[in-house]
Amino acid sequence: MHYDVIVIGLGAMGAATLYQLARRGVRVAGVDRYAPPHDQGSSHGDTRITRQAVGEGAAYVPLALNSQRIWRELEAHSGEALFEACGMLMLSSSQAPTRGHGTPDFGGETAALAERFGIEHSLLDAAGVRARFPQFGGFGDQATGYYEPGAGYVRPERAIDVQLKLAEALGAVLHTNTLVEAIESDAGGVRVQTSSGMLTADKAIVCAGMWTGKLLGASVEDLLKVCRQQLVWFELDEPERFAAGSPVYILLHGAADIDSCYGFPPLPGENAIKIATEQYLEGCDPDTVNRSVSQADIDALYDAHVAGRLLGVSRRVLKSKVCTYTITPDFNFIIDAHPQMANVTLVSACSGHGFKHSAGIGEALAMHHCNEPGAVDLSAFSLARFRS
Ligand SMILES: Cc1cc2nc3c(=O)[nH]c(=O)nc-3n(C[C@H](O)[C@H](O)[C@H](O)COP(=O)(O)OP(=O)(O)OC[C@H]3O[C@@H](n4cnc5c(N)ncnc54)[C@H](O)[C@@H]3O)c2cc1C
Repeated sequence: MHYDVIVIGLGAMGAATLYQLARRGVRVAGVDRYAPPHDQGSSHGDTRITRQAVGEGAAYVPLALNSQRIWRELEAHSGEALFEACGMLMLSSSQAPTRGHGTPDFGGETAALAERFGIEHSLLDAAGVRARFPQFGGFGDQATGYYEPGAGYVRPERAIDVQLKLAEALGAVLHTNTLVEAIESDAGGVRVQTSSGMLTADKAIVCAGMWTGKLLGASVEDLLKVCRQQLVWFELDEPERFAAGSPVYILLHGAADIDSCYGFPPLPGENAIKIATEQYLEGCDPDTVNRSVSQADIDALYDAHVAGRLLGVSRRVLKSKVCTYTITPDFNFIIDAHPQMANVTLVSACSGHGFKHSAGIGEALAMHHCNEPGAVDLSAFSLARFRS
């Protein structure tokens, strides 16, 4: 069968795109080398932060807001809990601007965008933080906080699963455990060579996460860097400190990227909080990522980010995971036509902050494909910005 669209990669971006295309009656197939949701790409680990005032830039805000709306719609369709609006605290130990995801003053930009888009938030001084969020001790008298009640966390594996199941029910054809080996295209359409045969379509949308560079070749691969990240779930000695109402958090205690961490309240039934760091210096090969977290790295994470800062958190580890960011030179997404391959769209490099936008990106891509009015403008993510 010849499809209108083949979506390559069915993780965060691909599942959302497949679902939104299927909803619109597009004849669509999805291909994935594994059977998503899985823990081999960039969309596992139980939770992802979603914020509304997105300090990475104004172009992201409509995508984040639309995603929150779509998760609520998906919850209504599926009965699955996907989005917990538990609020988000961004806490800095100093009043100096702190870098985040390529934005020089991440906190300042977040607050400015909240004002601009009318997003509910409050700014806290050290006393306000201590009074309202006593579980975050040790940030000192210079601490500043930004609290956003509409933020929270999304369940990535569930969101992918729900969208794939709904897409299939709407007529999408899923080819899981099927590797895409090559893509050829011309003005007439695309031919996708897979481990189980050839698929053809008018268009392909490539959402291959950290394998995007390998699949699409040098002109794209040169812009992408895959960076290994570590996630650790520490058990709580004093669970009441992180009881219901505890927010997700981004903690900034220095000027460098490695001087920050982020984390989540315990999931229902779990007595542990997930904490993660970010690093962009060391790249890795998607096919040979070291997927275990060493005790030395766990100790270093605890000493640098938890000890004296998060109260009532033990050193005991419930579990740990490795995940990968795919980053671009400016930390922003690439959503654009492939520079050489006709009829191929590239949706990649979601640079460690993509999940919160995934449902909205899928919707925007489907609306653009169907020429529907009112689609979110994706031009801020075009490749043109790298050409100069
Ligand atoms: C540790 C960590 C924490 C994060 N925290 C947040 C957060 O708090 N908030 C937030 O918004 N974002 C966060 N992100 C970022 C977000 O999770 C990612 O941007 C997003 O999940 C990436 O989705 P994706 O669809 O691009 O990739 P993936 O979900 O990895 O999907 C790519 C898919 O393509 C498939 N594939 C690849 N190559 C092929 C091939 N040749 N043939 C067939 N299939 C193929 C893979 O199997 C995979 O299923 C985090 C990421 C990590 C790693």
